[in-house]
Amino acid sequence: MTSDAGTIVVVEDDPNIGDLVELYLRREDYRVLQATDARQALEVVARERPRLVVLDLGLPGHQDGLDVCRRLRDNGRVPVLILTARDSELDRVLGLELGADDYVTKPFSPRELVARVKAILRRVDGPPRGEPEVLVAGGVEVDTARREARVDGEVVPLAAREFDLLAHLAHNAGLALTRAQLLDGVWGPGWYGDERTVDVHVRQLRKKLGDQLPLATVWGVGYRLA
Ligand code: CA
Repeated sequence: MTSDAGTIVVVEDDPNIGDLVELYLRREDYRVLQATDARQALEVVARERPRLVVLDLGLPGHQDGLDVCRRLRDNGRVPVLILTARDSELDRVLGLELGADDYVTKPFSPRELVARVKAILRRVDGPPRGEPEVLVAGGVEVDTARREARVDGEVVPLAAREFDLLAHLAHNAGLALTRAQLLDGVWGPGWYGDERTVDVHVRQLRKKLGDQLPLATVWGVGYRLA
């Protein structure tokens, strides 16, 4: 059996859900490895270097999915799709602040989950064509081909969605963009999240890039990158 689409690690302690997700991902030619707790998850990811991690938040043991997410973010940039039974705003916001790329709330449609996985991988893989490869905003270089943000030549690690937001702002430098426009342009028109998601990501960008990032809040509108 081929697995051309690459490896995905599914972290889920409920075997029924784990197997269901695996089944749907395998149909799309992904190679799927399952982990059932935090320790296993970190081991498998370190060993296999997957293209993406599907991560359940409610895990048995001392460490839950948010701990895993934090550790993954500390150690690299593997994209993370959070799967949560806890339909709590706090978990979602925390997950996104910790650098997760997207989330799906249980109960979920496996088809939708696969669509989200593909959307994340498209964003991660696809450098936009016909654009200059490096945009400059203040002290930040936005390298759209390598998907890197650099300050003084040093790469600043960003989650995939944070980079997308930065690149979108840089492509539209000088324009004030509303949160709705940013959601549309970065998350896509099919995304159901609310506009605070934009604020969460902006907060992360400001935290990571500091005053090198000339990003202004435009009251009553949204954001503008100088
Ligand atoms: Ca669980």
